[in-house]
Amino acid sequence: MPVSSFNQIRVSASALAHNYRLLQQRAGSGVRVLAMVKADAYGHGMIEAAQVFASAGCSDFGVAEIGEGVQLRAAGADGNIFVFLGFRPEDSGLFFEHDLIPVIYDLESGAALSREGVRREQEIAVHLKVDCGMSRLGILPKDVESFVTALQQLPGIALGGILSHFPRADEHDSLHSAEQFNRFEDVAAQAGNTTSLMKHIANSGAVLYFPYTCCDMVRAGISLYGYYPDGNAGAEREKGERLQPAMSFVSRVLQVKTVPAGTGVSYGHTYTTDKETRLAVLPVGYEDGLSRHLSNRGEVLVRGKRAKVRGRICMNLCMVDVSEIEGVQSGDEVIILGHQGDDSISGNEIAGWMNSISYEVLCLFGNNNERTYSK
Ligand SMILES: *Cc1c(COP(=O)(O)O)cnc(C)c1O
Repeated sequence: MPVSSFNQIRVSASALAHNYRLLQQRAGSGVRVLAMVKADAYGHGMIEAAQVFASAGCSDFGVAEIGEGVQLRAAGADGNIFVFLGFRPEDSGLFFEHDLIPVIYDLESGAALSREGVRREQEIAVHLKVDCGMSRLGILPKDVESFVTALQQLPGIALGGILSHFPRADEHDSLHSAEQFNRFEDVAAQAGNTTSLMKHIANSGAVLYFPYTCCDMVRAGISLYGYYPDGNAGAEREKGERLQPAMSFVSRVLQVKTVPAGTGVSYGHTYTTDKETRLAVLPVGYEDGLSRHLSNRGEVLVRGKRAKVRGRICMNLCMVDVSEIEGVQSGDEVIILGHQGDDSISGNEIAGWMNSISYEVLCLFGNNNERTYSK
């Protein structure tokens, strides 16, 4: 039996399912909601999260690299699995063997799949990524027509869909997404806008703030894990039912000690006590995803109250100030992320301390710790 760590990520399956159903409602019943399960489902566990989404009605999943797709299929996932980052030509057979859907953005990939399709006497449907303003993966709009023409000459391969990605859909009152959506619609028309050509561009922000962009399918990530892409502002603006954060991060107190005023704390003594101080030592550090940027900035919950991080966060340890919290003892539960008593610390709050976004906090915590799942 493996010995469990002091640090545990808890994932609420009911929160994941709630978020999936809410997104499906917002997108509309005719729209497919693809669950983005890349980055091990934003730290929630790709295989487990995909199972929960599937039970809630999901039949489309998105991963970054082909290896993740192979792993998800091998774990028994039904439905469509889209691979978004492309692939090495020599790996193109894996799409056929594991029934995965390639997203392509160059003709070399198309040619490699075509050769494989001919060899296997099978046709594969690909989705074409177009860069309508993100300046990330994808061919430029001006190249779409010639690309589609070239693709149509290749045997063993068909164009199943066309997609793009919004860079600013988290800005709920920006005009940028509307402009980009127009560009996408023009591009889809150039690609032959038939009913068999699937169109998808919307991420979480677009589903929530620009629902007219949902097209045939949306690709939801952060919202399925319970966070608004624009953080607390989005949650506070919500008039309907709210998304529910699914992850919490629980640790415990290792040791408690009282040190006099003028005592330096942790590497470099970047914090010096200004009075007699009770410190709790916690078994969590940057190796566990508690970023070193939280040194002298982060807070945790002990006995339902907030304790501030003092000094630098170490690799596997950090110190918090429990001077104002009655009765803290070694073994006490510590909440790094989540609720305790009447208080809670959200991924948005932690992201604020780190000058980052909830997405990164979830990946850091979830992918560097043991996970357990609850109903
Ligand atoms: C990650 C990703 C998404 C999901 O974005 P969220 O903001 O998390 O909803 C959608 N599409 C693509 C191509 C992505 O890489």
